[in-house]
Amino acid sequence: MPLLKLVFLGTGGAVPRPGSALPAIYLEDWLGNRVLLDAGEGAQYRLLEAGVSPASLTLIAVTHMHEDHVLGLPGTLATASLFGGRPVVLAPRSAHDVLRGLGVEVMERYESRRFRVSCVRTCHTIDACGWLLEWDAGIKFSRDKIAELPRWAVAALARGEAVEVGGRVIRQDDVVEGRQRRFKRLLYTGDTAPCPEVWSAVGEVDVLIHEAAFADDVSPRKAHREGHSTIVDAVEAARALRARVLVVTHVSARYPDKSRHKALARVVRPPPYVYVPDDMDALLISL
Ligand SMILES: [Zn+2]
Ligand SMILES: [Zn+2]
Repeated sequence: MPLLKLVFLGTGGAVPRPGSALPAIYLEDWLGNRVLLDAGEGAQYRLLEAGVSPASLTLIAVTHMHEDHVLGLPGTLATASLFGGRPVVLAPRSAHDVLRGLGVEVMERYESRRFRVSCVRTCHTIDACGWLLEWDAGIKFSRDKIAELPRWAVAALARGEAVEVGGRVIRQDDVVEGRQRRFKRLLYTGDTAPCPEVWSAVGEVDVLIHEAAFADDVSPRKAHREGHSTIVDAVEAARALRARVLVVTHVSARYPDKSRHKALARVVRPPPYVYVPDDMDALLISL
């Protein structure tokens, strides 16, 4: 079953506070991929606390070169390499030359058989990639809908091709069970101001991890000018992307805790389901 495990290693903003570390999220999927999304300072210690060896990471995807997102990268890579690990590093292209100085392979896109990660350019103060993670979860045909079709047509539909049977064009979506989608998608924005045109180009996602540096006490205009979002912006993005689950992170150190964000998340109706994690909270999501 498509299942994701997320551990929020650091949920703070640009400045750390006790109990609210710099940005880093660990993601493990049902295929065995292990991904670190951003590597704030100290990320490797919190990975170890979560029981994950840096050497076991498949890839590390950093959204941009602001220090709060990358200072944990050298240490995490050094430890990984001591234990024979060689995670792929993803970063915006403009950062590749600098990061190659760490002696690693750096790319803007990753693809394996049933999993791919690509850059979605977000709206921050410097070049930044949100990371779109996509899994091919396969499809299940509805028995009723394929019962009358010849074998060759079912085989072609399984490959994703459209077929014509008895003068009728049939596509894969017409014969799958229920409303399931073949590709499961998660978008992690990193730092961003609202980016509506980008969201509409992305289409739908299942899970959105969006920054909300600010709650409702800072003027949206000020937040956007700094390349950041409020929790209202995050909810609007989740609606535009039709996300089922919205996770809000990168909460500014101006807040002594996340109670203001959590209170606002509770009044969101209708869904998405909004979750405001604290450091080291874990979340299991069935896609
Ligand atoms: Zn940041
Ligand atoms: Zn930033």
